[in-house]
Amino acid sequence: MDVVYRCPRCQQQNQAPVDPQGGEFTCAGCGLKIAYQAEDVSQGRLRRCLVCPSDDLYVRKDFPQKLGFWIVVLGFAASCVTWYFRQVVATFAILFGTAGLDLLLYLFFGNVLTCYRCHALYRGVENLEEHGPFDLEVHERHRQIAARLQQQAEAQPSELTAGKS
Ligand SMILES: [Zn+2]
Ligand SMILES: [Zn+2]
Repeated sequence: MDVVYRCPRCQQQNQAPVDPQGGEFTCAGCGLKIAYQAEDVSQGRLRRCLVCPSDDLYVRKDFPQKLGFWIVVLGFAASCVTWYFRQVVATFAILFGTAGLDLLLYLFFGNVLTCYRCHALYRGVENLEEHGPFDLEVHERHRQIAARLQQQAEAQPSELTAGKS
């Protein structure tokens, strides 16, 4: 299992292996250490996010969404050209072809576990079905907490507001 996360202090993106015996992640940018316990990663599972203490995690496809988007956009643009030249068969071939390619890529990519709160990504987690898919309500709750914390931080920059929820 390994994790990709953004350092909460300096925003540097880090990638680190997760030790099932517990351990710590060290930020490559500022050296911030984040410790985690063995009980949080028992038997290849993940009971909570190791970067922030949140236990709201969801499963999503490890699929570069930009890639899927551009395949569809390019397919659509190409089909407009063939449609203009009245190439009906070619138009539909391109449209179905790009949709099929999108689907194939989607099936080919594995699943990844994501934290709602800090957006850390976990790859190679076992028993993924224990975690639900993306839930808009939970996402919205975390988004509002984050927005409130940021407002507080801007209002009183000298006080530490992190960790309060
Ligand atoms: Zn850092
Ligand atoms: Zn997290």
